Amino acid sequence: MMIPSRYNITIPDYPKAGGILIFNTLSGSLYELEPDYRKSLESLQNGSDLDESDMVRLTEMAEEGYVVEDEETEKDMVIHNIRAAAYGNSPVVKATVVTTMACNLACKYCFESGMEKSPTMDRETAQLVFDQIVKRAQDPSVKAIDIDYYGGEPLLNMDIIRFLSKKFQEWCEENKKTYGFTMTTNGTLLTPEVVERLKPLGFQGARITIDGVREIHDARRPYKNGKGFSFDTIMKNLTNTVDMLPITLVNVCSKESIRQLPSLLDELEEKQILDKLAAFQPGIEQPYLDKKGSVCGTMDCALTKESAENFLLAVQELFRRNLPARGELLQGTNCSITAAHGLLIFNADGKMYKCPVLMDKPEFSVGHVSQEKLNKHHFTCVTKEIWKKECLDDTDCPYVPTCGAGAGCRFAALVNSGDLWGDGCSREFHDHYVPEVMKLEHMKKYEVNSSKA
Ligand code: SF4
Ligand code: SF4
Repeated sequence: MMIPSRYNITIPDYPKAGGILIFNTLSGSLYELEPDYRKSLESLQNGSDLDESDMVRLTEMAEEGYVVEDEETEKDMVIHNIRAAAYGNSPVVKATVVTTMACNLACKYCFESGMEKSPTMDRETAQLVFDQIVKRAQDPSVKAIDIDYYGGEPLLNMDIIRFLSKKFQEWCEENKKTYGFTMTTNGTLLTPEVVERLKPLGFQGARITIDGVREIHDARRPYKNGKGFSFDTIMKNLTNTVDMLPITLVNVCSKESIRQLPSLLDELEEKQILDKLAAFQPGIEQPYLDKKGSVCGTMDCALTKESAENFLLAVQELFRRNLPARGELLQGTNCSITAAHGLLIFNADGKMYKCPVLMDKPEFSVGHVSQEKLNKHHFTCVTKEIWKKECLDDTDCPYVPTCGAGAGCRFAALVNSGDLWGDGCSREFHDHYVPEVMKLEHMKKYEVNSSKA
């Protein structure tokens, strides 16, 4: 017996009348189907009689996951995939290390502004961070250690980046593994001299976030000391370092900044920065600014419908200019909270977290670097599996395979309902975003491939 997959997202009569554009969130297949394929799929859906040609087409569609044997087998595959992502070991130990929560900018939306003090990591804590990370990297299946230094502004505590990097390099050399690091920085201190000092220590790339053109960026991200503006400094540093290492420039797509995106791209082009960037990424507008918080930016389901609209405008502009938009637009991403061996975030004070934006909420810490084991909260995060009931059994939602671990952003749930395990669903966002991105991806794909059948 065959049935249509419950994970098909379809746009009927697109791009041609009678045809259908179809994407399967489980298999990741995106195709334009000719009208006879659409008819065969609809006949299967309606329980109509199928002839031999229908069966041939349906068998072909089964290869792409649009048609499956039965509902339970498909559901089991989704459960298996989510659990494999949650419990699987990775050959790379990834960690985020906050060198300091201090910052030289006073961004209006930064969660740090709600904190009473800005801890800075000392060498004693860094040694314990090192011990925790190498303990995880000892497994023979681990081939590499990959650290992202984060803040606050991580370059305000370069001593810890150098201290840790030297130790990781030595340890990795002795243990035949590799070490490399990236940095999420506001870009104001990323001068050529800094890059030159850090490259021999494994510096492999920087991620710089800007909020738009000069007037928008400077209004939202003033210097803390009230002296001068940061946009021009960032542009100068970008010009001087973009040839030295891969730099990803993330532009936050707010309602204000999106209208000015073409001007920003023009300016980056004039300054000969745009072509040299590793990537220009439209960033997710932080939907919870008024509630003092921002999502991690790794997961699309943390978005609202309005931020999806702004984000889509940015993606469309990149497609129009033939610039690479984020590669995984339709793939979805995983929330680190639910992964047993996933990303750990080491705050400057030694507390460990599973989500970067929960760092101002010690009640959600999963332990301290001085402790041998992670705490009960970590166990709850991994084993709670709220997606199973809410997304699979109750809702029958077609986005489960691409919605992180299948239950939305936990931080969004916390902000909206006061409960980390409350409703974090952004189905409205997916319904708006996915069909639009399907059209864009289709345009790109069909420039090189002819349509199926
Ligand atoms: S959180 Fe919402 S959108 Fe995501 S899989 Fe669950 S029901 Fe679907
Ligand atoms: S809960 Fe998950 S998706 Fe949401 S901000 Fe935290 S890590 Fe990102």
